[in-house]
Amino acid sequence: MDLRYSDSDERFRAELRAWLEDALPSLPPKPGQDNWPARRAWDTRWQQMLFEAGYAGIDWPSEVEGRGATPTEHLIFLEETERAGAPYVGVNFVGLLHAGPTLIAEGTPEQKQRHLPRILRGEEVWCQGFSEPGAGSDLAALSTKAVRDGDHYVVTGQKIWTSFAHVADHCELLVRTDPDAPKHKGITWLIMPMDAKGIEIQPLRTITGSTEFSQMFLDEVRIPVENRVGEENDGWRVAMVTFSFERGTAFVGELIRTMSLVEHVAGLAQRIPRGDGKAWDDPGLRRDLGRIAAELDALWALTRRNVTQAERGTGVPGLGGSVFKLAYSEVRARLGDLTMKLLDRAALGMEDVGGIESGIHVERWFQSMSLTIAAGTSQIQRNIVGERILGLPKEPAV
Ligand SMILES: Cc1cc2nc3c(=O)[nH]c(=O)nc-3n(C[C@H](O)[C@H](O)[C@H](O)COP(=O)(O)OP(=O)(O)OC[C@H]3O[C@@H](n4cnc5c(N)ncnc54)[C@H](O)[C@@H]3O)c2cc1C
Repeated sequence: MDLRYSDSDERFRAELRAWLEDALPSLPPKPGQDNWPARRAWDTRWQQMLFEAGYAGIDWPSEVEGRGATPTEHLIFLEETERAGAPYVGVNFVGLLHAGPTLIAEGTPEQKQRHLPRILRGEEVWCQGFSEPGAGSDLAALSTKAVRDGDHYVVTGQKIWTSFAHVADHCELLVRTDPDAPKHKGITWLIMPMDAKGIEIQPLRTITGSTEFSQMFLDEVRIPVENRVGEENDGWRVAMVTFSFERGTAFVGELIRTMSLVEHVAGLAQRIPRGDGKAWDDPGLRRDLGRIAAELDALWALTRRNVTQAERGTGVPGLGGSVFKLAYSEVRARLGDLTMKLLDRAALGMEDVGGIESGIHVERWFQSMSLTIAAGTSQIQRNIVGERILGLPKEPAV
């Protein structure tokens, strides 16, 4: 294993850095949080700029218009875009970070050609229709049903917490195709066009005030059989492929952003008055922040090791994503708690107080809680790590 960057990696970095320096100043300000058509246009415009410059889908195959480069170059891309303050994936999250990679691993040649280039060019936005009111942690309990009618599936049921549903063109959808089979065996993974008849979307407001996710009611939605990914009733296995991307690689960009956030919080501590000096004078705070920084460094080393291994292997990350997702989201939540303690009374509202940019940190703290829930809660990741990686006995069924 070699964790150093090669000369060609460093050339890639230098070219990208130069491109970012030119491209970023041309971006207009980002639209407000609930102006979704404008947000979609802004996020997809950035994606289009990346595509035109050859920086979309760095590690996606060239047959589908990706760059066909190494996962290490993808990490460099994430490092450099964060360093330059470039936009994050936004509404393109699902398509780029887990639906697209699932199609690369499991889609038919037609599905790959139809969707992957359009995702990379910013022409197609995706959402994820996995969770239901009675099937979140116990996802295999889902009851949205799909009944075969000739060359279509007819889908009826309800999905919840569907991020970006109202701006998406397609949805990665899990449905029950065999109600009599054991619960993990009767599920199918479908591509649902969001303009199909019978889809009703109702926005839900998050704790930060955003309407980024919705509940979806599906009433006899007709989905062509050719939109099935994997075999009928083999959707649980395909969903595990999706999760291995969603819990593993999809969080790497977040990790890099959090490493920058630690620097920012340290800077904040050096400005916030406390007693006769500054908050930074407290050795306890410096120790806690240092520990978080060290844990993030360790996760970065783990990521680079995983990427090095993936470059030699199948390209599908595997169960290790649960270790990463669990450790990352927990350390991120601790950083949020520490920041709130640092802000003290300024953390009581979302308005900036005393010339300190407290509002954005309160918002980030709220967001940090959602990371321990989205893509499977920390408790569920612990069960996976315990039972499926460490081989511990299964938890008692209730
Ligand atoms: C910001 C955000 C975005 C999301 N986006 C999407 C999306 O786009 N598409 C989508 O399909 N879903 C999405 N989700 C939903 C997410 O996947 C679920 O919220 C998550 O899987 C938990 O399910 P639940 O909310 O039903 O909680 P529940 O399953 O009801 O869990 C409640 C509590 O019980 C605990 N618990 C449950 N079972 C066990 C067990 N066996 N052992 C120990 N503890 C247990 C859980 O850990 C949790 O603390 C999103 C969630 C968030 C927060």
